[in-house]
Amino acid sequence: MTEEETVYGEEVCCHCGGLGCRYCDGKGTVLVAQPAKKCRHCGGECCIYCGYTGWESVKGKYD
Ligand SMILES: [Zn+2]
Ligand SMILES: [Zn+2]
Repeated sequence: MTEEETVYGEEVCCHCGGLGCRYCDGKGTVLVAQPAKKCRHCGGECCIYCGYTGWESVKGKYD
């Protein structure tokens, strides 16, 4: 048995579309657990649950 490590990939921030905003620290991308899924609460429209990035399982600043 091998433990699967969570793999994160860069996805374009849904809030700014890659331009850079406060929610993605101005980078335009966020680290999302792969395979990347849109936030189940908002479907990519951005909400409090996805930290306004539009993605599910975003690697947070609190890790
Ligand atoms: Zn952004
Ligand atoms: Zn959301």
